[in-house]
Amino acid sequence: MPIHEKSLIRPENLVTHDDLVIDGVDVSGHWSTFIKGRSVTDYNEAMQDEIAALPGGENIHRCWQCGSCTNACTVNAVNNDFNPRYWIYLIRLGMEEELLRDKDIIWQCVSCNKCTYACPRDVMPEGVMKATAHWLELKGHTPKSPSTIFDEEFTRQIIKTGKIEETRVITRFFRGTGQPLRQNWLEALIVNLVKRFPVFYLMRLGLSVVFRPKTRGWNKARHAINEYVHEVEEANRKALGLGGEGAK
Ligand code: SF4
Ligand code: SF4
Repeated sequence: MPIHEKSLIRPENLVTHDDLVIDGVDVSGHWSTFIKGRSVTDYNEAMQDEIAALPGGENIHRCWQCGSCTNACTVNAVNNDFNPRYWIYLIRLGMEEELLRDKDIIWQCVSCNKCTYACPRDVMPEGVMKATAHWLELKGHTPKSPSTIFDEEFTRQIIKTGKIEETRVITRFFRGTGQPLRQNWLEALIVNLVKRFPVFYLMRLGLSVVFRPKTRGWNKARHAINEYVHEVEEANRKALGLGGEGAK
């Protein structure tokens, strides 16, 4: 299906002549707007399969390009460039380079799921957006977002001990995102905590920094979770053609 939206044509491919007469007809200005032809040779023919293999992307093949998702989209209402229908179109065609032009906004999906309810084909566009953002990261097209860095630290602690220790999560998150450990809002929060919370609670917080909290009998669960995570990571790598065991 052709794309008719002028906003989706690269500006460098739009040519207008200020002064042009064809067969005696003055077609100067926007009357003489032409779209330069171009050949696309770098298709990624596996792209739809790669994204369909990630959680959320499974139904992408069902899309019939009705546009209901984009029409209902919360983010599109404030930013026209956020266009789930168009990205699904590019993915299905395998136009990776074209999709990469929008790599910095795809992750802005707020997971409101309006598109999911609007879609007549059960494509689950919200899931496709998540899978696409995940795919961009796995392929190395985008750096890890701060929320991914936070999730990773959070998950690492849960897997290790079955519990999280807030101070450790926040300090490692700051380090991972290159932020200073001393921040005004954090200092204000700590001052407020000290003022409002009972002493025994503060002592418990302090002790948990020194003696890391741990869920009793967690080893078995840790082993099972690690096995599952490993299986999922391997499946993702395979689906994206990123090589076998342990390859990154
Ligand atoms: S879930 Fe994402 S893509 Fe869907 S409507 Fe909400 S912001 Fe738009
Ligand atoms: S609403 Fe569903 S079928 Fe329509 S364009 Fe969006 S994803 Fe495709």
